[in-house]
Amino acid sequence: MSESSDIKVLGIDLGGTKILTAVANAEGEILSRDHSITPAEEGHEAVVKSILESVSRALDQARLTVADLLAVGLGVPGLSNPETGILFTSPHLPGWKDVPLRDIIEKELGRKVFLINDANAAALGELYFGAGRGARNLIYITVSTGIGGGIIIDGKIYTGSTGMAGEIGHMVVDDEGPPCDCGNRGCWEALVSGTALTREARRRVKEGAATSILGYAGGNIDGINAEAVHEAARAGDSLAKELIAQAAYYLGVGLSSLINIFNPEIVVIGGGLSNIGDMLLKPAFEEAGRRAYEQTYQAVHFARAELGRDSGVLGAAAFALRKMRE
Ligand SMILES: [Zn+2]
Repeated sequence: MSESSDIKVLGIDLGGTKILTAVANAEGEILSRDHSITPAEEGHEAVVKSILESVSRALDQARLTVADLLAVGLGVPGLSNPETGILFTSPHLPGWKDVPLRDIIEKELGRKVFLINDANAAALGELYFGAGRGARNLIYITVSTGIGGGIIIDGKIYTGSTGMAGEIGHMVVDDEGPPCDCGNRGCWEALVSGTALTREARRRVKEGAATSILGYAGGNIDGINAEAVHEAARAGDSLAKELIAQAAYYLGVGLSSLINIFNPEIVVIGGGLSNIGDMLLKPAFEEAGRRAYEQTYQAVHFARAELGRDSGVLGAAAFALRKMRE
């Protein structure tokens, strides 16, 4: 993606709470961006309207019109099929069922639109413009309220037979582990995520554990979150350190499976929980090293995601660009 910066693409990152829209060139430089709120409770017509308004503001800001765009990439949360452009269902968009979102937006804008899962978009963003530049085989992992992922094989995103591959957060790492939102139990994200860390901390505090975590949560059990645990751990609190070590352990267990299965050259980790940094990631990588084949472990390099919240929007734009060139 190194030629002409005359090419303009538009990326849309539709989240359950926010819509991020950006105009970018083929080098991944963002020319304009617009943030707005997702009216998730108001149904898909309202969300479509908000997306279109956001697109128009982003274009105005870049002094462009829709006719200047080569194509549009649309990253969506939840289960979707990039071939048909249908968003089947999303835990973040209540009431949505089999919405042909790509075709709806394409008709409204009069430009070619490509739809992709948001975590897959973020993987492409990191591959083209972030920590994974130049890689052929990459696993992208975002650890935040849950775990999302994107699998790049031989330079291409792997989407599976019906577009749903890469749901690494629902890889089972403990068959008798805690229940997961998906209906299964012991999924990776039920053990390692902001939600899991918060749940465990609240449980231990309720049981009367001696800890300063509550103090970092305004004295209120319901105020305990991953940040409160992290702050307490940094101040030396032993329960907080234990909870982060436990999350790191399970993070490493899951990583070892991914490394053995895919033999990637790089694993890129992003998402809010990864901001805990070395306290979480270093022991996780070590645990993965104890479990994975030595040869696969030696072949892999771990990196923090570089694009932050732009990874999804840039990845969606890159996906559109790539599809237009195919
Ligand atoms: Zn699950």
